[in-house]
Amino acid sequence: MNKIDTDLATRAEVLRIVWDRLETFYSDTKSLKVGPELDKSQIQKWITDLIQHPSSDMTERAISVVEGLKRYSVHTSHPAYFGLFNPRSSFAGIVADLITATMNPQLAAWSHAPLANEIEQYLIHDLGEKFGYTREASDGVFCSGGAEANLSAVLCAVTDKVSDYKRLGLINQVQRPIIYCSEHAHHSVARAARIVGLGSDSVALITTDSHQRMNTSDLILRLRQDRSLGHLPIMVIATAGTTGPGSIDPLIEVGKIARQEGLWYHIDGAYGAAVILSEAYADLLHGIAWADSITFDIHKWLAVPMGASVLLTRHKSILQVTFGMSAAYMPGDSKGMSVTDPYMHSIQWSRRFIGLKLFMSILAYGWSGLGHLVDHHIDLGHLFRTCIQQQGWVILNDTPLPVVCFTDAEHIGIRGYAEKLCKYMISTGRAWLSVYPIDDCDVLRVCFNNYITEAAHVHDLVTLLGEARSHVGV
Ligand SMILES: *Cc1c(COP(=O)(O)O)cnc(C)c1O
Repeated sequence: MNKIDTDLATRAEVLRIVWDRLETFYSDTKSLKVGPELDKSQIQKWITDLIQHPSSDMTERAISVVEGLKRYSVHTSHPAYFGLFNPRSSFAGIVADLITATMNPQLAAWSHAPLANEIEQYLIHDLGEKFGYTREASDGVFCSGGAEANLSAVLCAVTDKVSDYKRLGLINQVQRPIIYCSEHAHHSVARAARIVGLGSDSVALITTDSHQRMNTSDLILRLRQDRSLGHLPIMVIATAGTTGPGSIDPLIEVGKIARQEGLWYHIDGAYGAAVILSEAYADLLHGIAWADSITFDIHKWLAVPMGASVLLTRHKSILQVTFGMSAAYMPGDSKGMSVTDPYMHSIQWSRRFIGLKLFMSILAYGWSGLGHLVDHHIDLGHLFRTCIQQQGWVILNDTPLPVVCFTDAEHIGIRGYAEKLCKYMISTGRAWLSVYPIDDCDVLRVCFNNYITEAAHVHDLVTLLGEARSHVGV
């Protein structure tokens, strides 16, 4: 047996003991401090100590890593993590990743992993239908995250709208291609423009109204201006659930403008697209079927381990046109079959079985179970808004989604105030939340995204906010 191979007894013991530790973490996450001490030199010392400490015992090593991560991580699995859209992994998602890691199917070519690839195709068509695409027309690809999905969408738009882009790139472009999105859009859009070679001047940030939604009159104005300057508008991106304030851009209005102006219409629903699964709230996404493409992160609201996102489109051939290549070393054993080779449809080449996390979730909880999760968080958001308003806090964002940006009524506009509150609360280890600027002033931002968070945690958070307010003073 070589050094990399292990015997059955070792494997069984490592898994039993390590899983036992993981189980303690999983079932008792609430007993940990939500946020760690951020001491870089101590962390580096932890690493060198482990490397230098001679042991070939895998159990001991793995336990060290688990304990280290417990000490030095923000626990997004904690019910009092009210931060960004990072979830606590669902158990179905964990089991899926265990299977994927162990069997390691290679999804690049259909013929190497036909079942895995057909599962992903099934999910893509199911999702497409949920968003209002027809099953026949919908296509898509699983991605590592929303940043990759958005970049893929930008590439599709450029390929579709800039003539001969595939061959010439942007070298011979006389007109500057322009992408439109709101000032609250995720920064992966601006970076996608940079990666594609457009540069940030090619991204027009459209102002938002008092509800943090894209000002469509400003969009129209900007389009007119850009055309008169000789630029080439190619794409508009509406966000369904902005990362900061959680707002949903006016999807239908933007869709109409996109159609009139001949733009590629992308909806970044990395966070908010999950609402489509909720019977009660799906209407909030009315108009999403207008989108030429949609980004939907599975690893946010749907609680699967990172990284899992999906890019959907209602244009059957665009992914093939954008990403298609022919490579002699790739398997050709599915020639003549009507199948999709993901490496011809995406940025990634070798790829893991990302879709299994969603598939296992559906087998375990059903689409409706995931929809109820969305309802649960939206309800917690409403409860929290009601509670804090009774305590003299004011809410500064406007969204039905469970993202609340707020500050003390008497401290609106006071610089540094929200940051002090936030710092104090994180230092107690009893909650993790963040700060976000609304109308140029930092306020607190709380988001409900964890499936074990309940009303009691909302009330604890309100209590802690009161303590923070007294602690920080005026
Ligand atoms: C999180 C987020 C992204 C980026 O997604 P990742 O999965 O972190 O790569 C893009 N857009 C929006 C609106 C997001 O909230």
